[in-house]
Amino acid sequence: MVTFTNLTRAPEIGANSYLLRSGDHSVLLDAGMHPRLDGWDATPLLDQIPEDLDAILVSHAHHDHIGSLPLVTAAHLGAKVLMTSGTAALIEPLLHNSVNVMTRQRRELGRTDYPLYTHRGVDDSAVIWELANLNRPIQIDSSEFEFVLHDAGHVAGSVMTEIRTDNHRALYTGDFNLQRQTLMLPCQHPSGPFDTLIMETTRGAQAAVPGQDRAFFEEALLAGIRQTFERGGAVLIPVFAMGKTQEVLALLHHARLEGKIPKAPIYIGGLGRAMTEVYDRQRTLNPRQHGNLRLIPEAQPETFDPRRLPNLRLRGGHIYLLSSGMMTANTTSHTIARLFFPREHDSIFFVGYTDPSSPSGLLRQAGQGGAVDWGDTAAVPVRCEVRYFDLTAHATREDILRWACDEIQPSRVLLVHGDPDAQAWFAAQIAQQRPKTEVVQPPPGQPIPLFQDLS
Ligand SMILES: [Zn+2]
Ligand SMILES: [Zn+2]
Repeated sequence: MVTFTNLTRAPEIGANSYLLRSGDHSVLLDAGMHPRLDGWDATPLLDQIPEDLDAILVSHAHHDHIGSLPLVTAAHLGAKVLMTSGTAALIEPLLHNSVNVMTRQRRELGRTDYPLYTHRGVDDSAVIWELANLNRPIQIDSSEFEFVLHDAGHVAGSVMTEIRTDNHRALYTGDFNLQRQTLMLPCQHPSGPFDTLIMETTRGAQAAVPGQDRAFFEEALLAGIRQTFERGGAVLIPVFAMGKTQEVLALLHHARLEGKIPKAPIYIGGLGRAMTEVYDRQRTLNPRQHGNLRLIPEAQPETFDPRRLPNLRLRGGHIYLLSSGMMTANTTSHTIARLFFPREHDSIFFVGYTDPSSPSGLLRQAGQGGAVDWGDTAAVPVRCEVRYFDLTAHATREDILRWACDEIQPSRVLLVHGDPDAQAWFAAQIAQQRPKTEVVQPPPGQPIPLFQDLS
């Protein structure tokens, strides 16, 4: 029997990691780190990974899927580590950046357990990574497992993982998108039916509004930028350094060329620039739109030096595309936002998921005219414009439901990568639309059958 164990500690978007076992063989899907917890609490249930792990398959380069990879590879030296070239090129600098962040937190927060791994640990991990192509079967020595990676349309290099065994087929979606973004194409998923679907549920609690699709929000963002510039303001767009930075930069570049926004200077952060260089180098290797577009030489973003922050005077007509997306304390977007708060002609525009408890989430809740309390000073009045444009990298819940029911037609669905209310929505909808499909919310640390037991 093939079993599936959810190694994420709770039903949420945490340290995503899932273990497949068949007889003596085992394969790990992703090895993430919780985006909001600290220390070992932020890792998956690492002690449940068998010592003789055969392989690790990495779905994409987000921290909640890769942040624990150096820990897992160090503890399981015999495991093959497989990912696309896009993912490999992105995660090496990202993991080194994680070491820097943890080292800083060791000093600032007095966390003696940090860093959980070192630059040397990242290098030791990276030398054993193997590049895998899309759409080609990957065998795991002498096991019944065979895998095929399919483009997931989420960020550069992202994949959905098809899991084949002797008699069954399952699909692990990873994070995926069924619609286009500015650079990413819709996912190129394999055809159903599948026995089992292991499915991300990120947006299960967020209803899509009919008519408000990607193009709608792109135009709305550009209009918001135009209006801000017309009243002499500057725009801050808090973004993740990888993925969102490049998507928004491409959107703004094309908008400038088409005269939809003025030829404004765009500032990006140092890590954002490093990630953009990888996107440029990888532009023809991963499925995407605008395959010829080289963002650094063509969009010509300026690199923002955070050492300028203490003396920075905001200029109208400038766009600051800075990380982090959640405006985590000590990041550039967090610090620069305080300069925007008192200026009513400026704007802070969110373009992606914001955790409600993060500084970004709190600022969105406060809104223009409110007061935001980030815990480090007294509540601060927010006079600048604050808006949200849904340029998501994830499939909407409506798209996922339709796709799962009509195209994948699974007999068993395992709900992962979502909060309890998001998972509950999918569970209820699937029960209604496909009553014979078994829907499971895999309990942390407990092996369950990957495939429905038909005996
Ligand atoms: Zn992701
Ligand atoms: Zn994720």
